[in-house]
Amino acid sequence: AKESGRNSYHMYSEILHHELNQRMELMKRLRHAVEHHKLTVFYQPKVDMHSRRIIGAEALVRWIDDDGSIIGPDKFIPIAEDTGLIIPISEFVLRSACKQLAVWHSLGFKDLNMAVNLSGKQLQSPDLVAQIMAIVNETGIPASHLELELTEQVFIDNIQSHTNFMHAVRERGISLAIDDFGIGYSSLSYLKHFPVTALKIDRSFVQDLPHDKDDATLTQTIINLAKSLDIGLVAEGVETEDQVEFLLDRDCIIGQGFLFSRPIPADEFTRLLDEYQGQ
Ligand code: C2E
Ligand code: CA
Ligand code: CA
Ligand code: CA
Repeated sequence: AKESGRNSYHMYSEILHHELNQRMELMKRLRHAVEHHKLTVFYQPKVDMHSRRIIGAEALVRWIDDDGSIIGPDKFIPIAEDTGLIIPISEFVLRSACKQLAVWHSLGFKDLNMAVNLSGKQLQSPDLVAQIMAIVNETGIPASHLELELTEQVFIDNIQSHTNFMHAVRERGISLAIDDFGIGYSSLSYLKHFPVTALKIDRSFVQDLPHDKDDATLTQTIINLAKSLDIGLVAEGVETEDQVEFLLDRDCIIGQGFLFSRPIPADEFTRLLDEYQGQ
């Protein structure tokens, strides 16, 4: 038993060592990718499920590897947050998204909104509002057509400075959505304190609709909540027409998900706009 204990210790430390090495390697490659402009932004439509028109886009970052394969943000955003690379990455995504929105507006899709994800790490920067406004002004988009998506994770620490940030953003006309709503902490109490303009129902509630009774109840509850607070609502991860029917029956009109489109490059999104809106 002693022997096997020592062996498993060695094995454990070897695995740990291996993981650490992999992480270091990934970190180096990510830094290189950022410096050499290997990141790009994909866009996923937000759709009015009733009229099937595209009302907005969410900007989602992608890393194009040297062999052309695409690395998703779940693989590198956590490391970007730990290393501070999240700051240049976020600035790149925000600037790309605002520039792209300006292009779509100039093509005649004037009502289109753009949503960009913010990381909690960014909120630690005291001049984030100024940085955002600089990009809004530089690209000439109306602030009213920009939405920032924050997860509940962001609300855990430093409530006061985050409240200040949110009020400052709202004063400038930018919208604020709570992402992945329902899976985080203290959801209800912060809705009272924060000037939130929309909730995004987390995909995990939507995926088993309409069959799963618990999820149906929870989704209905979130819809009621948004209605009674008079804030916007988006259902994430819509993949089936049955889900659309369930959501529309309950007055949740805006949806986002693979049923309508996966996240796609900007030029493909432009073609989708041409098709859907017929302009
Ligand atoms: P999120 O903000 O919740 O983004 C939605 C994710 O759900 C996207 O994954 C999207 O591809 C996926 N999705 C959309 N519709 C469906 C569907 O119908 N079914 C399924 N199974 N999935 C669907 P993605 O692009 O891999 O992004 C993952 C997460 O990475 C995002 O989750 C967001 O938290 C983060 N992220 C992405 N881009 C950025 C960024 O520029 N900055 C920051 N801070 N985080 C980002
Ligand atoms: Ca999001
Ligand atoms: Ca989400
Ligand atoms: Ca369930």
